[in-house]
Amino acid sequence: MPEKIKGLSELLDSKMNQHSVVHPMSSEEYELYMIKKQNDQPGKLDGLDCSICKNKGYYLRYDSEHHNSVQVRCECMARRDAIRRLNQSGLSQALQKMTFETYQTESDWTSKIYAAAKAYAATPAGWFFMGGQVGAGKTHICTAILQELLKRYPARYILWRDEIAKINAGRNDQTSIDCIGRLENVKVLYIDDLFKSGNRDSNGKLRPNPGEVNTASQILYARYNSDDLYTIISTELFIDELLQIDEGIGSRIAERSKEYRFEVDRNPARNWRTTH
Ligand SMILES: [Zn+2]
Repeated sequence: MPEKIKGLSELLDSKMNQHSVVHPMSSEEYELYMIKKQNDQPGKLDGLDCSICKNKGYYLRYDSEHHNSVQVRCECMARRDAIRRLNQSGLSQALQKMTFETYQTESDWTSKIYAAAKAYAATPAGWFFMGGQVGAGKTHICTAILQELLKRYPARYILWRDEIAKINAGRNDQTSIDCIGRLENVKVLYIDDLFKSGNRDSNGKLRPNPGEVNTASQILYARYNSDDLYTIISTELFIDELLQIDEGIGSRIAERSKEYRFEVDRNPARNWRTTH
């Protein structure tokens, strides 16, 4: 048999064989076969490798009542969303290690702050404020809250000094306007070290310049006017010092963080007080 014909004959045979395999199937078996075939097709989603949907984000399931296939959103999509939110959150690898599990509660006040932070992360209401003593674990506890909320909402971390430098660099151009706009609207915003940008008075106290105060007002006023946004703030300043810098900012933070306001005294014992 010429080589060409032989090839054709094999092709026909294989077609016939395929046919003979498919033909005796019941319609349900056929449907299941087609579902399996489609479910086995790999998808193109990246970020994590899912054996259930083969990275398509969905799979087909046979509905025996209606005798058809239904498309099911794969459970990996929630994890993919969480990964995407984390990548967009601005949290560095180092910050991602700051969780509730790694937070040390070695004293009475750290235990109380820990309990309050856990409660806020579980059922956020208003804003969360931590002021005072440098090195008291403020960033750790606030980042832990942010990471919990990130599992449910879009969230952003900003280090005030870096963000204000970025905004100033692009002052009044579209990037800077977009940047501020995102901070005004994101569901959860954590501002780390508010007003710590290098400007201090002769006593070493933070003294933000008018441009900085302006930017902070713009972001915080917008967030204050939306009831359903969560704002977390850490700063070495106390509320009364924030009031002196700018009454509008200080009073809005005080009002919104009524339930969750912690100020760590600047003394070696690091006592904490609340100023309800
Ligand atoms: Zn999946």
